[in-house]
Amino acid sequence: MDLNLLSLPGDGIGPEVTLEAERVLSAVAARFGHCVKIERGLIGAAALEAGYDPLPPATCAAAKAADAVLLGAVGLPGYDLHPPARRPEKGLLELRSALGVFANLRPVKAYASLVQASPLKEERVAGTDLLILRELTGGLYFGEPRGITQGRAVNTMVYTEPEIERAARLAFTLAMGRRRRVTSVDKANVLENSQLWRQVVDRVAKDYPEVTLNHLLVDNAAMQLVLEPAAFDVLLTENLFGDILSDEAAVIAGSIGLLGSASLGERRKDGRLPGLYEPIHGSAPAIAGKGLANPLGAIASMAMMLDWSFGLTEEAACVEESIGWLLDHGSLTPDLGGKATTREVGEALCARIGVLAGTAR
Ligand code: NAD
Repeated sequence: MDLNLLSLPGDGIGPEVTLEAERVLSAVAARFGHCVKIERGLIGAAALEAGYDPLPPATCAAAKAADAVLLGAVGLPGYDLHPPARRPEKGLLELRSALGVFANLRPVKAYASLVQASPLKEERVAGTDLLILRELTGGLYFGEPRGITQGRAVNTMVYTEPEIERAARLAFTLAMGRRRRVTSVDKANVLENSQLWRQVVDRVAKDYPEVTLNHLLVDNAAMQLVLEPAAFDVLLTENLFGDILSDEAAVIAGSIGLLGSASLGERRKDGRLPGLYEPIHGSAPAIAGKGLANPLGAIASMAMMLDWSFGLTEEAACVEESIGWLLDHGSLTPDLGGKATTREVGEALCARIGVLAGTAR
């Protein structure tokens, strides 16, 4: 099979973790007989520094043409005070919007060998296996009007029924393949936006009678995530709440550097599923270029790409099993208490994939 992807390393640690994800992808492809074609593009501060917009038109066109997009991270502190249109993060928001990737899936799993790396007590973390579905192209991040004029700042939280419904349907569909529980998170006691969210989710739930639905207010959800993370199965929420809760959930697993994500759109007429795959962490500028970055989040994102964009479940499982093996057998980066470099983690995974795939065939 031909795997045509666009790689957008971006800024900070983005290039080094993306490089390891590409190497591991090549190792899996070699073992399973696939042909990988990787085109690279500019986004974020890397694009700005080359004299382009945060999302250059060429990158946008290449992303639309590719079977899947692998992204590192965007953002550098030097751009914090730049106008919104000239900030690196604008490139990522525009890319998500251009690809129509409305659902960001963020799995969080507690690995037995890492419970000591979690800030929570072992008995709370054990058994955690949850999937956050964050709506990605609506809400405060995109709503108009927005801006700052004469000492007054405005952002607008907008959701339409179809936007809520497609995210909710995906959450219920995914729950059917898991433990059949959906927790929808909103702020319906204060926000009209959340009231509509709740009405639509309740309506969609009627089509999935085997799935148990409960609603949580976002403040309570933040608390329950640290009190009883193992109680969650699929957590469905809007853009801003999802952004915040998923970082909180990430550290439950041990490190933000560990987790991957898939952002998916609606299947196109030609059968292709728009997919943008990125670790959930940012560009971590303080550790960039030092070999300290954990590449596992980028590699886990690449495994999600194999599964969702290419339907290569065996190959994806091979990468995931290799990550599990690595976490049990050492070669960890400092964020997980180890001494391995970014490169050494990638090398260990490539070697393990050779062993696993060799056994599988
Ligand atoms: P961050 O995720 O970059 O870093 C948070 C903390 O986690 C830091 O201590 C960092 O060193 C650590 N960390 C993150 N990834 C790691 C990894 N792979 N291995 C080891 N440690 C890791 O978040 P931040 O510091 O709030 O933001 C830094 C920049 O990244 C900002 O410009 C922000 O806008 C941007 N950002 C981008 C994305 C994205 O591209 N999707 C997401 C979040 C933040």
